[in-house]
Amino acid sequence: MKTAVCPGSFDPVTNGHLDIIKRTSKMVDKVIVAVLYNPGKNPLFTLEEKIDLLKEATKDIPNVEIDCFSGLLVDYVKQKNIDFIVKGLRAVSDFEYELQMALMNKKLNHEVETMFMMTSGEYSYLSSSIVKEVWKFDGCIDGLVPEVVKKALHKKFK
Ligand code: ADP
Repeated sequence: MKTAVCPGSFDPVTNGHLDIIKRTSKMVDKVIVAVLYNPGKNPLFTLEEKIDLLKEATKDIPNVEIDCFSGLLVDYVKQKNIDFIVKGLRAVSDFEYELQMALMNKKLNHEVETMFMMTSGEYSYLSSSIVKEVWKFDGCIDGLVPEVVKKALHKKFK
């Protein structure tokens, strides 16, 4: 039984995240989507809201579980018996940051592997922050986030 974890802030989940989650779900028995609890980052959505949005957005993928963690990802990986971490790569800037994280995680626990999945072309420019920016100024975010997220954003900025 192979288990992968897709960690992130998911503030909120976008179709770019969902693309990585779906593609990962086809390669393993179970995907755990783990929301990092980091209130210091001043998120728009609470942890509970992020989890609910992820649950709704992934309800049609049978082998996905939504969870959260705080502290070191390597400790969470060990505690949950996860086989590897999956991260999405959009641009060179992602690469530099992710390389640093993957190497640090390897130093903290040499058994933990990180696998990288290239973004799909249509989502390569997409991030949670840009979606929030565009939505704040009434821009169109159709096709970039699941419907449930659109509704939640509408409530937040109303
Ligand atoms: P963001 O960078 O949008 O704030 P997160 O911290 O929630 O996102 O990111 C969690 C993971 O999802 C990271 O590995 C990130 O590279 C990946 N990711 C986010 N958006 C995309 C996208 N559009 N395509 C591929 N991977 C993505």
